[in-house]
Amino acid sequence: MTRAAVIGAGTMGNGIAHVFAQHGWEVALVDSAAGALEKATATMRGNLDRQVKKGTIPPEAPAEILARVKTGTSLDAAAGAALVVEAASEDPSVKFAIFEQLDRVAPPGAILATNTSSISITEIAARTRRPEQVIGMHFMNPVPVMQLVEVIRGQATSDATTASVMETARALGKVPVEVHDYPGFVANRVLMPMINEAVFCVMEGVATPESIDTVMKLGMAHPMGPLALADFIGLDVCLAILDVLHRGLGDDKYRACPLLRRMVAAGQLGRKTGRGFFSYDSGQGKG
Ligand code: NAD
Repeated sequence: MTRAAVIGAGTMGNGIAHVFAQHGWEVALVDSAAGALEKATATMRGNLDRQVKKGTIPPEAPAEILARVKTGTSLDAAAGAALVVEAASEDPSVKFAIFEQLDRVAPPGAILATNTSSISITEIAARTRRPEQVIGMHFMNPVPVMQLVEVIRGQATSDATTASVMETARALGKVPVEVHDYPGFVANRVLMPMINEAVFCVMEGVATPESIDTVMKLGMAHPMGPLALADFIGLDVCLAILDVLHRGLGDDKYRACPLLRRMVAAGQLGRKTGRGFFSYDSGQGKG
């Protein structure tokens, strides 16, 4: 496989396009918002230049890699792709509509993957006439840096599709891990309850956010404390995933902490709004 389409050019989409193009794939990067495509190209250029400065790619590489990424606003660009990775907004109705259209435009043999953090792969696959070729390819943020790809099999995903996506992830220099389609998969099912418990600790006054993060960093060897990580992910995103776990698994151990809900209601979403459990200046430093 050498041609990919990436749908959605936001935080994740630009990183996914970057990694595919860096490994020799021709990439069609599609976003319904033209502005997002311009921003994505600028982000990819900046990240590639940083790789040159670090000496991980040669100085001529960024131009070659960027030349392999064609941007556009129409899903028709998926017509020539062997693999499509959807990384559009985390909204079921958006993803369902995209997959219905991709099923019509992508070649019959193409694999349709989604980068969703929490929406059922099985439900997305059911919107297509090729559920055996639909799979989760859950990259982590920032995509060019993080090694893991959670590969999620829906109810109907075939062994051949899974094997192909596992092989592709390895060819991209990633480490794929195969998991099954239950709410939150593995990454968020394990991570979000920990973040939620850290928020309960703040709410109950067990310790300050700084202290809680210090305990987890120095005591558990986590590179980032759970509250700084929540701010990085976005508190609205954390809340939405906890609600998916709570609804999907039906167990109150996943109920979101009222303080998390209150902060989201107040617009304190973490780094992206400048304030969450910590404050951030425009340079994104933690304060
Ligand atoms: P984002 O909001 O940064 O980007 C989403 C992009 O999708 C936007 O540019 C938007 O214009 C575009 N879009 C919306 N509807 C579209 C459509 N119909 N057709 C084409 N483009 C459309 O979101 P993100 O953080 O990059 O997340 C994308 C996906 O990746 C989500 O499913 C999210 O759950 C998942 N994810 C995010 C992270 C993360 O840390 N941000 C990590 C892992 C997975």
